[in-house]
Amino acid sequence: MAQQQAVIIGSGIAGIATSIRLATAGFSVSVYEKNDYLGGKLSAFQQDGFHFDVGPSLFTQPEYIEELFTLTYKNIKDYFSFTKSKSSCMYFFNDGTQLLAPANKTDFVKTVVDVLHEDENKINDYLDHAANAFENIGTLFTQRSLHQVNSYKNGRLVKALKATKLAYLTKSMHAYNRSFFKNKNTIQLFDRFATYNGSNPYKAPAMLTMIPHFEVNVGTYYPFGGMIAITNALVQLAKDVGVTFHTNASVDKIITQQNNTIGIQVADTIIEADVVVSNMDVYFTYKKLLHHDALAQNILKQERSSSAFIFYWGINTTFPQLHLHNIFFSNDYQKEFDHIFQLGTLADDVTVYINITSKMEASQAPPNCENWFVMINAPAHTNQDWTAQSEKIKALVIKKINQLLQIDIQPHIVCENILTPKDIESKTSSYMGSLYGTSSNGKFAAFVRQQNKSQHYENLYFVGGSVHPGGGIPLCLGSAKIVGGMLS
Ligand code: FAD
Repeated sequence: MAQQQAVIIGSGIAGIATSIRLATAGFSVSVYEKNDYLGGKLSAFQQDGFHFDVGPSLFTQPEYIEELFTLTYKNIKDYFSFTKSKSSCMYFFNDGTQLLAPANKTDFVKTVVDVLHEDENKINDYLDHAANAFENIGTLFTQRSLHQVNSYKNGRLVKALKATKLAYLTKSMHAYNRSFFKNKNTIQLFDRFATYNGSNPYKAPAMLTMIPHFEVNVGTYYPFGGMIAITNALVQLAKDVGVTFHTNASVDKIITQQNNTIGIQVADTIIEADVVVSNMDVYFTYKKLLHHDALAQNILKQERSSSAFIFYWGINTTFPQLHLHNIFFSNDYQKEFDHIFQLGTLADDVTVYINITSKMEASQAPPNCENWFVMINAPAHTNQDWTAQSEKIKALVIKKINQLLQIDIQPHIVCENILTPKDIESKTSSYMGSLYGTSSNGKFAAFVRQQNKSQHYENLYFVGGSVHPGGGIPLCLGSAKIVGGMLS
C-alpha cells in the first residue's frame, strides 16, 4: 500500500510535534511554513550580543517533550537539556513586599506563611485541591477529545465528577482565592495564574485554580540555550524521523471536494494529501484557507485571550535582586483586567513581567549585562495604534520598575526591540494577536473551543493554541497528542 501523505500548515510547536507523531505513525509528512524561520511564537533573535526569546518564557511539563523522544526511540540527551529551577518567580508587590517563590511545595508554603502571614493549613489545602483537580479533571481536559465517548470511559468521568467542587463552577478564580486567603498580596499572586492562558481572574471559573499545581507542586524548568532550544530540538527530531520542512511557503488554500479534504495550495502548486492538519489559527483557517465565513464567525462567538506588549531590552549592568522570572504587580489588579478585557486599553498602572535568561546562562548577554524580556498583558488587537502608544507604554513600564526596584532603569537600556499585539497577529497569523487563541473566561469555554477533528470536512484536523485543549506550550503539545492518537 502506498504511504499516506500528511501535510501540516504551520510550524508552531503543535505543528512540529504533530509532524513527529504522524511520521512515527507511518505517514510521509511535509510541513509548510509561511515565515522564513520555524517555530512560530517559539522563536528567538540576537541583537547587539544579546539573546532574546520572542514569545514564551516559562517552561512547565517537560514530560510532553520527553514523550516525543520516547515515541521515536531517540535519546533526548542528544537533542535537548533542561534543568529544574530552584525558585519559580520573584514577586514585587505594590506595597513594597517582596517574595521569592520556591519551586517546591514545602518551601513555597513556608515562604507564604512567613512573608504573607497566611494560614499554613489553608495553603496546603488549596494546593492539594489544585493537584487533585489536575490529576482527575485536568488530564481529561488536556489530553483527550471532549467530544469522543471513549474519553470518558475507564472511570475517567466518575473521577472527574468526584474531583469537581461546586465552587469550581459557581465562583470566579478571584472569588475562590479570596475565600481561601486573607492577604491582598496572596490573592493577587494566585489570581495571576489566570494569565497563563490569557484569561481574566475576575471572570474565569475557579476550575482554573488547578494551574498553580504545575508551578508550585511540580516545578518549573529552564531549557539550556533559552526557549528556542525547544523548537530547535523538536525540528531536529522531526527531520531525523523523515519530516520535510518548507519555509517561505504560505498556504493559500485548503482544497476540498464534496467536503473531503484532498490537499493544499501553495502559490501555484497543488499538494495532494490524505490528511491535512492546520496549525494556523482556526479563525484564519476557516476565513482565508477555506473561505467559510459562517464557520469563521462561529469561532468569534468565543472571547479572544489577552495579547501582550513586549520590550526586549539589553541592559548594561546586572541586578542581583532579580531572578529568571520576575513580577512587578500593579496596585489595582481588577482595574487592569477591566481595561484589558472590557475597554481594550491599558490601565495607568500595569503589572510588569521580566524574564532574564542570562541569570541562568551568562552567555545569553554580553559580560556584566542582562537580557530583559519585559512584558505586560495587553488587550487583543482591534484597531489600536500601538506604535503611537509605545512611548507612553514604555513610560508606564519604567515607572513601575523604578518604583519597586528603587532605581532609574532608563540609562541602562542599551538596545531595544518591541513586539506589539498587531505584530503578534501579523507574524504568526494569530487573530487579534491573542497569545492563547480564545480565553477561558466562560464556564463552558473548554467545551466550545474548536475540536481537533473537523466536523465539516473529512481528513481535516486542527492543532495549536487556538483549538482544544488551548494555548501555552503544554496544551499545544496536548493537541498534537490528541490528533496523533486519532490518526495512529
Ligand atoms: P504558533 O506559534 O501560533 O505558530 C503557528 C505557525 O503557523 C506560525 O509559524 C505561522 O507563521 C504559521 N502559519 C500561519 N498561517 C500560515 C499559512 N497560511 N501558511 C503557512 N504557515 C502559516 N506559553 C507557555 O507555555 N509559556 C509562556 O511563558 C508563554 N508566554 C508567551 C508569551 C508570548 C509573548 C507569546 C506570544 C506566547 C506565549 N505563550 C506561552 C503561548 C505559546 O507561545 C503558544 O501557545 C504556542 O507557542 C503556540 O503554538 P502553536 O503551535 O499554536 O503555533
